[in-house]
Amino acid sequence: MLKVAKFGGSSLADAHQFEKVRKIVRSDPARRVVVVSAPGKRSSDDHKITDLLYLCAAHIEYGVSCESIFQMIRDRYEEIKKDCGLKTDLSRDFDQIWVHMQHGMAREELASRGEYLSARLMADYLGYDFLDAALWLKFRFDGTVDKEASYAALRRAAEGRNVVIPGFYGAMPDGRIRTLTRGGSDITGALAAAALDADLYENWTDVSGILMADPKIVENPAPIRHITYNELRELSYIGAKVLHEGTVFPVREKNIPLNIRNTNEPEHPGTLIMENIQDEAGGSPITGIAGKKGYCVITVGKTGMSSETGVLRRILEIIESHGVNVEYIPSGIDILSLVMAEEKAQGCLYAMLGEIQKEIAPDSIKVTEHMAIVAAVGRRMVSSPGVSGRIFATLGENGVNIRMITQGPEEINIIVGVEEKDFAQAIRVLYNTFMKEK
Ligand code: ADP
Ligand code: ASP
Ligand code: MG
Repeated sequence: MLKVAKFGGSSLADAHQFEKVRKIVRSDPARRVVVVSAPGKRSSDDHKITDLLYLCAAHIEYGVSCESIFQMIRDRYEEIKKDCGLKTDLSRDFDQIWVHMQHGMAREELASRGEYLSARLMADYLGYDFLDAALWLKFRFDGTVDKEASYAALRRAAEGRNVVIPGFYGAMPDGRIRTLTRGGSDITGALAAAALDADLYENWTDVSGILMADPKIVENPAPIRHITYNELRELSYIGAKVLHEGTVFPVREKNIPLNIRNTNEPEHPGTLIMENIQDEAGGSPITGIAGKKGYCVITVGKTGMSSETGVLRRILEIIESHGVNVEYIPSGIDILSLVMAEEKAQGCLYAMLGEIQKEIAPDSIKVTEHMAIVAAVGRRMVSSPGVSGRIFATLGENGVNIRMITQGPEEINIIVGVEEKDFAQAIRVLYNTFMKEK
């Protein structure tokens, strides 16, 4: 049995958090591969180490001294080291990094040192071997991860050992350090789990799993116990951000379940993410609710549109030529709507409308701005008749005007467009209606 356990920044913020991590790792001998982020915030007004490292890089770029920020970073690690009673000497590392920073150290390499130093301390604390991600996580020159080469290298390097691996970075073919995008330690953990054919990928963070709705909108939302990869993809695409978007692919390919757990509440089972779930009868048809503001919708009406070939293609080509992508296309026989991010459409909205007018000659063309999208996601919707009716009734009864409706072909989501002013209310009333059924 092998479990790859990734701990996020908040789980490593100080010595007290390190202690919780050690307890968790020691409580299960299957946790032989540990992936760590850089120390995160200790409180809401604190700084993440990674942010401080980027701040140093920005100072250097503008020729401004970053000595005090660098000292803050150094103090954070020294404090953890001291409070954990560790022997690992980081002073040489810090001195070397400082010298290197004065001589053109690349921004990505500097940012990666947060994870590097964190893993060095954690390896010492756990009595595991430190295994540098640069030795196995290999990027191609185009910036994509070379999975075959990386997996083979990690299998060789981790064979028969208990290891701590720094998240967030790897190496280019020429040896240069390259980082993943922000929050990328989640991906390192997923790649390690896939490489080693782990039985489970545990992602330890500061919430007891994926919550059924954004905690900033719904007070104390319940965590989701089980969710499929597909449902998670839908929810995270539209705003429920707990994991980095790229986390699911490597583990899903190998059919490795993913468990989100809370370092501060280790007895909680968290959320288990799997390909298929055997549901018992009953329960809410909806697994979670998420949403995003900042959309605009172009609605084009033309009699006989559905029987005329190429209309949709030509409209999409026009929009594409402006570098905008269409996220949803709810449609009727003589009408279709194109939903896109306002931020991208803003500068070219009228140009697109003009071109559509000229090319398609529609009977009507309308733009709705400041829209929000709310998605109710649930694998059980397929087998629960009447869910969409209840969604519309609930929203209507609570004064939320629905401007658009669409459902994906797999019937695991129902998406409604509402005005931005109704966004939070829509999420709250849906949560209250459906989650009470759990
Ligand atoms: P880590 O540092 O462990 O990688 P992150 O900050 O990246 O943790 O992700 C965890 C955070 O995701 C939570 O603290 C929470 O604020 C946020 N979050 C956003 N949406 C959700 C959701 N639907 N369920 C749970 N957490 C969410
Ligand atoms: N430390 C990096 C960041 O803050 C990576 C991570 O935490 O996953 O983005
Ligand atoms: Mg994260």
